[in-house]
Amino acid sequence: MSLIMHIPVSSNLQKLRKFLEGRTGKAIMEYNMIEDGDTVLVCCSGGKDSYTLLAMLMALQQRAPVKFRLIAMNLDQKQPGFPADVLPAYFESIGIEYRIVEADTYSVVKDKIPEGKTTCSLCSRLRRGIIYRTAKELGANKIALGHHRDDMVHTLFLNMLFGGKLKAMPPKLVTDDKAHVVIRPLAYCSEADIAKFARGMDFPIIPCNLCGSQENLQRQKIKEMMHDWDKRYPGRTESVFTAIQNVVPSHLGDNGLFDFRNLTLDTPVDEGDIAFDSPEMPISGTIPIKLPA
Ligand code: SF4
Repeated sequence: MSLIMHIPVSSNLQKLRKFLEGRTGKAIMEYNMIEDGDTVLVCCSGGKDSYTLLAMLMALQQRAPVKFRLIAMNLDQKQPGFPADVLPAYFESIGIEYRIVEADTYSVVKDKIPEGKTTCSLCSRLRRGIIYRTAKELGANKIALGHHRDDMVHTLFLNMLFGGKLKAMPPKLVTDDKAHVVIRPLAYCSEADIAKFARGMDFPIIPCNLCGSQENLQRQKIKEMMHDWDKRYPGRTESVFTAIQNVVPSHLGDNGLFDFRNLTLDTPVDEGDIAFDSPEMPISGTIPIKLPA
C-alpha cells in the first residue's frame, strides 16, 4: 500500500499529483520507456526529484496496461552526516521493494581530487558504475533517473555555451556496456511543479550538499540565466524543451546530419529558405523576441 494513500492531501496537491502523473505517463508512452515484463531500478538519492519519480512510477504501475516491477535503490556514498536510516524507513513505509548499496565513494573522491577542485565528475562516474552493477545483480533491464525538463534544458545550454555541442540530456539511452536502458520519466515535468509536489507531500528530503561540494558553478550560472529569462519571458524553458524535440538538421550546420556539401537544387529542405525573412521572430507563447537588425 502506498504511503501517499495514507496522507490526507489537499485538493490542490491532488490536482498537482494528477497533472504530474499525466506528464510522466505521456513521456513514458511517447518514448516507450517501460514495456511489459520490465524490471525498473529507480535511483533514489533522497532529493525531491527522486521521491517524486518513485511516487509517479508507483502510481502509474497501479493502472498501467503493462506489468512491470519496480525496485528502489539508494547508494549510501558514506558522506559525513548522511542519515542512513531515512530512506530504508521510507521505502518500508510505502511498501516498495528496495536495495541499499553502501560504497565509500566519498573517501575515494576526497583522496583522488585535490582540495578545491570539482569532485562531481569522478563521483558521478563511480556512482554510475555501482548503479549499473546493482541493476545487473537485481536483473533490472531499465534504470530510472529523476532528471526533469529543466535539467535537460540546462544541460543543452551547458553543452552549447561551454562544450561547443548541441546536445542535451536524452529521455532514454542505452548504457555504454549495452546492458541497460536508462530512462528519465520526469522529462515532461518542470522543476517548479516537482518542488511544489515534494513540499506538499512532505517527503523526508536528504540535503544534497553533504559531500561539501558546491554545485557545479557553470550549471548554477545556466540555471540562474534560465530562471531570469523565464521570469522576464514566461514559458521560455518550455519552448527550449520543445525545440529539443523539434530539430531541423537542414537549418543547423552539421554535415553529418545534413549533407550540405552535396546539396543540389533538388534536395528537399525542411522549412524552406528563411535567409531573407524579417528579423522579428514569432515565438510560440506571449512575447515575440525582436532580434537586432
Ligand atoms: S555534489 Fe557531491 S555527491 Fe553529488 S556528484 Fe558532486 S561530489 Fe558527488
